[in-house]
Amino acid sequence: MTRSPWLPVFRAIAAEIRSTVAPLAGTRRGREVVGAGAGGDQTIYMDALAEQVAVAHLERVHREGRRFQLLSEELGRRDFGGSEVILLDPLDGSYNAKQGLPYYAVVLAVAAAERLGDVTLGYVLNLVSGDEFVAERGAGAYHNGERLLPEPAALGAESLAVLQLDAPAGVNPRGQSQRLIDRAQRLRQMGSAALNLCHTATGGITLQVAPSPVRAFDLAGPLLILAEAGGVATDIEGKSLSAVSCNLESRTTLLASAFAEIHGRALQWLTPQK
Ligand SMILES: [Mg+2]
Repeated sequence: MTRSPWLPVFRAIAAEIRSTVAPLAGTRRGREVVGAGAGGDQTIYMDALAEQVAVAHLERVHREGRRFQLLSEELGRRDFGGSEVILLDPLDGSYNAKQGLPYYAVVLAVAAAERLGDVTLGYVLNLVSGDEFVAERGAGAYHNGERLLPEPAALGAESLAVLQLDAPAGVNPRGQSQRLIDRAQRLRQMGSAALNLCHTATGGITLQVAPSPVRAFDLAGPLLILAEAGGVATDIEGKSLSAVSCNLESRTTLLASAFAEIHGRALQWLTPQK
């Protein structure tokens, strides 16, 4: 199980965000626009409140002696004196929360440096259900305290049971993924990149695709959860994501599955037949 000293801090942050922010979902007060975030999106009251809660906890641990850099979706970068990087998306799936659609999360990660391959701890809490996903590099992934282990995929069928698409707002989510959509028995576009990757790690989502570049920052912790569960993620051309920057400006496409064989097949399906 995870021994990182950050895990209790992340759990305390997530629990307080769940109790203070989740009740505002779908309310007029909750969706009030209060500014623009460092990540480029509008900041609604729920985003701002969730970030305030998280920052208060991080300021406390800093006063107690911990040193780190904070990279957060709304406020951007804040120097707390060390080199370890804490990545914070206080509310992933803000649009769902704004609309009162029950699928949004708090996402935290620890990274030794600012690339996706440098993440050492990933933490996601579904703010509606309380489902928790945690992974520490080399120590496995856990869902509500139970080790996430890859089950053999139900292979054989030349189709995808559940295909999940992600795209930035206003971008056609289908992009160059039509060949995958043609193979999908069920298509979803659920709206929280972090939760989508966690459910890819459990195998609930057969294949997760972002055919147009999405923010790499949102994927950092969840990609470790997928990897520690035995899953595979690359960009849509099959290239490794580990050297991709996880700062707020960085973007990447994504192709992810808990099952290497499905990931491999998807890459083949995406390649135009000569
Ligand atoms: Mg957010």
